[in-house]
Amino acid sequence: MPMIEIHKISKWYGSFQALKECSTKVNKGEVVVVCGPSGSGKSTLIKTVNALEPIQQGEILVDGYSVHDSRTNLPKLRSRIGMVFQNFELFPHLSITRNLAIAQMKVLGRNKDEAVERGLKLLDRVGLSAHKDKYPGQLSGGQQQRVAIARALAMDPIAMLFDEPTSALDPEMINEVLDVMVELAQEGMTMMVVTHEMGFARRVADRVIFMDAGEIVEDDSKEQFFSQP
Ligand code: ADP
Ligand code: ADP
Repeated sequence: MPMIEIHKISKWYGSFQALKECSTKVNKGEVVVVCGPSGSGKSTLIKTVNALEPIQQGEILVDGYSVHDSRTNLPKLRSRIGMVFQNFELFPHLSITRNLAIAQMKVLGRNKDEAVERGLKLLDRVGLSAHKDKYPGQLSGGQQQRVAIARALAMDPIAMLFDEPTSALDPEMINEVLDVMVELAQEGMTMMVVTHEMGFARRVADRVIFMDAGEIVEDDSKEQFFSQP
């Protein structure tokens, strides 16, 4: 069953066309890695999935709901799509515990106790319980990114989008983040991941999309992708 369906989408930034009739789909439980040169439209593509970037042509359905249709409850849909960015984007002035709880309270309407309990459970899962009372600036980049993943998971997402989640990390921290992502993939999370980490793709991707100049030029099974000359 398709969880994310992208139908012939085009997007312009002013007069510059960043996406050219891109189509693909991600089935429930699938992991799709998006790669390609810098500026090819990877980040734009995944940001269209939760309407962080508007499109001018085409259609995107998530769990059957049209993302850019005014009849869709976009806040509700967005709350169910987890997004992890290159730069963590934690709230610097809030403790880790509050970072984990706040969206659950504001967006899902969970009460504080519930939200904190759920957040701490996921913090434990990423191995960072001991840091619950710290602030983001007191953690390493790899730890912050693991908190960002836990925060997204606390919203019980139906799919997760990752935009170069390890690109801002020192090399020794990349694996601690990838390991969490591999575990998620193995548990059946539906994921779209923009990354240059081809080792990650080899381990868990079902498909690999290659973009160039705003177009999806390859959309292959992992086996096809890695067997090409
Ligand atoms: P990638 O993730 O593959 O590096 P992006 O999706 O970030 O590519 O960008 C695709 C193209 O769109 C690039 O040429 C980039 O300069 C351009 N672009 C991205 N964001 C904007 C923006 N907000 N305004 C104008 N051009 C943009
Ligand atoms: P609620 O369950 O909050 O009462 P409804 O099911 O009545 O919401 O739907 C209200 C609007 O929100 C509908 O137009 C529908 O398109 C949209 N909607 C409902 N559920 C979702 C969802 N899970 N994701 C995105 N949009 C949704």
